[in-house]
Amino acid sequence: MAFTLSGADVCQPTLPTPIPDPYWVAFSSSAAKLIGLEVDDSGLPQDPTWLGLLAGNQLVANNQHFLNPIATAYSGHQFGVWAGQLGDGRAILLGDIAGQELQLKGAGKTHYSRMGDGRAVLRSSIREYLCSEAMHSLGIPTTRALSVVGSDLPIRRETSETAAVCARLAPSFIRIGHFEHFSTQQNIARLKELADLVMKNHYPECMNAESPYLDLVKKISARNASLVAQWQAVGFCHGVLNSDNISALGLTMDYGPFGFMDYFQIDHICNHSDQAGRYSYHRQPQIMHWNIACLASAMLPLLELQEESETAMNLLRSALDEFSDVYTQQWQALFRQKLGFKTTQEDDMKLLERLLQLLHDSRVDFTSFFRGLGNILTHESVEKILLRNHFVNRELIDKWFTDYVLRLKSENSIDEERKLFINKVNPKFILRNHLAQRAIELAQRKDFSEVQKLNAILSKPFDEQLEYAEYADPPTPDLRAIEVSCSS
Ligand code: AMP
Ligand code: MG
Repeated sequence: MAFTLSGADVCQPTLPTPIPDPYWVAFSSSAAKLIGLEVDDSGLPQDPTWLGLLAGNQLVANNQHFLNPIATAYSGHQFGVWAGQLGDGRAILLGDIAGQELQLKGAGKTHYSRMGDGRAVLRSSIREYLCSEAMHSLGIPTTRALSVVGSDLPIRRETSETAAVCARLAPSFIRIGHFEHFSTQQNIARLKELADLVMKNHYPECMNAESPYLDLVKKISARNASLVAQWQAVGFCHGVLNSDNISALGLTMDYGPFGFMDYFQIDHICNHSDQAGRYSYHRQPQIMHWNIACLASAMLPLLELQEESETAMNLLRSALDEFSDVYTQQWQALFRQKLGFKTTQEDDMKLLERLLQLLHDSRVDFTSFFRGLGNILTHESVEKILLRNHFVNRELIDKWFTDYVLRLKSENSIDEERKLFINKVNPKFILRNHLAQRAIELAQRKDFSEVQKLNAILSKPFDEQLEYAEYADPPTPDLRAIEVSCSS
């Protein structure tokens, strides 16, 4: 919804820079529905002028005009260190359509590009496209991807690649970094305008709270706590959880060197550039909490408009404490579901912790393990459970399965019912790195069919789709080695 703040300190009017001879790489008819865009039989917009618009080559498509595109200013903490002003260095907000903001990523330089070229390469644009849409189909809040438009324009990264523009949709692209930006500048009037805008458009319930800004912090915190619990439940690692990449709406955003875990490793690092593992799998909850603390401290001046400084600080501190409660509650609920439990029992978390340790020790494929739990028959002996073959220590896993089956029996779990339930919460298909890589390599040779096929498979992650069984398989050891860095 409309980013209605204006002024040179907030945003800059920015025209996209055209790309030569644009062509469709990918188009999401599912995202198109969000904005009421009609699609033809080939799955592309009926109106061909959308190609030029989504390439950044023109500002009009059919009856849609985007005459005031902007790039916005934000700041942020990167890898735990204050990085000062960042801003939309390669994203241009075209405007609003049906309650969604339409943004072009990679559409050329902006006022905030610093040393960058304002571009995005085909590889990273396809990854963002596939993952945004896959995340949505998993039921996890995310910005959406409408399209990827390519061009043969060469782009220099580690090697020479080609340019692409990814069109993104979200009710708002406001990040924690936007709040930090005005707060560090002690521009309280702007900070208040921003908070009021976010509240009015996205958290109207806060406006009636006793302390609206405190309530806003709590609500943003709760949405992001819940988001990170959902990531953990599907083995998703974001890769760069800097405060400028954290949405004020609790959406997964700014897909870069992300990765879904194949085999389970509690301290898995998906971003090759993150040597210290700041953003590793098991740290994501605490890092998200840290980012919410950045938000809380940015919002302090607004609370101080109403309270003594000490009281304001104490209120924000207690708001921050709520993060862990929301996260833990959500994480436990999601993993109980993954295990197929309908009730809550005292020792459930001990059982889960034992399992996670065993999965970690044997590096068992996370997604297919949980999916496979649906095949367990409670009347059969544990030696018949095929999943046990993936574990090095058979004695310990057999003991675990014995306890698991007892736990299922204690709530009179019915096998067929549980299988249906487990299959609704444990996806069969996730965007594994090697699948994305295969689609990218074909796309780099101008064959976009695999991007389309993969997107279609991932749009039904919980369905069996037996004809695509190989897409559910973990990578072979040689394919596991694909490294993903920040370069995009
Ligand atoms: P990211 O790590 O992608 O979230 O980006 C961090 C900051 O760098 C943001 O301000 C981006 O807009 C900016 N940035 C990243 N890549 C480029 C690029 N190629 N050109 C200009 N700015 C960029
Ligand atoms: Mg970013």
